[in-house]
Amino acid sequence: VSSVELTQHYLDRIKQLNNKINCFITVTEEQALEQAKAADTAIAAGNASPLTGIPLAHKDLFCTEGVKTSCGSKMLDNWVAPYESTVTGNLKAAGTVTLGKLNMDEFAMGGSNENSFYGPVRNPWNKEMVPGGSSGGSAAAVAAGLAVATTGTDTGGSIRQPASMCGITGLKPTYGRVSRWGMVAFASSLDQAGPMARTAQDAAMLLNVMAGFDPKDSTCMDRAVPDYTATLDQPLKGLRIGLPKEYFAEGLDAKVEQVIRDAIAEYEKLGATVKEISLPRTHHSVAAYYVIAPAEASANLSRFDGVRFGYRCEDPKDLEDLYKRSRGEGFGSEVKNRIMVGAYALSAGYYDAYYAKAQKIRRLIRDDFLKAFEEVDVIMGPTAPTPAFPIGAKANDPVAMYLGDIFTISTNLAGLPGMSVPAGFVDGLPVGLQIIGPHFEEARLLNAGHQFQ
Ligand code: GLN
Repeated sequence: VSSVELTQHYLDRIKQLNNKINCFITVTEEQALEQAKAADTAIAAGNASPLTGIPLAHKDLFCTEGVKTSCGSKMLDNWVAPYESTVTGNLKAAGTVTLGKLNMDEFAMGGSNENSFYGPVRNPWNKEMVPGGSSGGSAAAVAAGLAVATTGTDTGGSIRQPASMCGITGLKPTYGRVSRWGMVAFASSLDQAGPMARTAQDAAMLLNVMAGFDPKDSTCMDRAVPDYTATLDQPLKGLRIGLPKEYFAEGLDAKVEQVIRDAIAEYEKLGATVKEISLPRTHHSVAAYYVIAPAEASANLSRFDGVRFGYRCEDPKDLEDLYKRSRGEGFGSEVKNRIMVGAYALSAGYYDAYYAKAQKIRRLIRDDFLKAFEEVDVIMGPTAPTPAFPIGAKANDPVAMYLGDIFTISTNLAGLPGMSVPAGFVDGLPVGLQIIGPHFEEARLLNAGHQFQ
């Protein structure tokens, strides 16, 4: 098929199904068809990359020149970025087609996609269920066949957890592997963009283009990007898998555990060896994250003041009224919670007790992983403790929601790559296997994911 035909197919499906799933905030039909035409011309001229003409869609926190970037917030409902993020720019330069921008939890804060100004995203496997979050629109779009693959971002699990709940493959790269330039910042020391796709092979093709040095992001590493597709077929014989006993403990749904144990048994059949390991500080990770992430968010979100960007209240009485009402009306409640928690944790008198303590815990969590990786090549376990849950079920219980991140958050605190691959089903809902690797070993994760698929 031509790229125009392929693109038209996806645009038709979006028209037919988006009102049921609510995964797209913006559909860029005209632009997509133009890009597809250009891609077909490039292919005819023998001037194509492996991704030329492939229709993708992007989480609505990647700045896209000339197309609204809302970040799932009323604050940015009318904001059009004057420049392009490095990730989306790289993908465009590779010839991909952009179908539009995807729904998400407001400012990427959430684990269920219920915190969006544009309403909840619905899980394509069961529309009463959440798709996971915050990249829920990205996961649902792939699962429902409304895009070939998508981009997401992961600060505490937001690529892997929705990938698990929607039955797709999602990879959070090592911190510093992919440029954060042009991503609306949530928690800058944790945020990382990655691919969300049907298979590890598709994810590898996207990561090939997304990864790499960018002088515009000072935390982006100047390190060669391997061809992630080149090692997908390596045999897994001798791969040493570690199972952290803390990931198979209380709180893990028994049926999810069975799916994960069955997946591990498949790896043993492929020649991998399995041993139990310990990540003893796991139980501190959620607490440390929910100090560090809000602290960084409170600083990052101070730029939304009603003056420079986005939403401005009507008829402000004076400057203070302008700030207060613009922020009060522009942000949703979860974002306000995080700003307040973060500002508190950073304030004089509390900084050492909360923020500095959390940073020390963060280092210990990283040390636990590095020690584990002296004995094993990858760590495996569940991505999330449960399959998707009903929309509304945890809406009034933020702590229950936060505990859903228990298996993903420590990876971000340690800066490690982590991936979720579909492993099976519990009561008709997909469940993901998480694979965590040492820093910059994305190729190893993709290889392990591909061999399993
Ligand atoms: N669920 C976590 C949170 O609410 C993680 C979000 C993310 O990774 N962006 O902060």
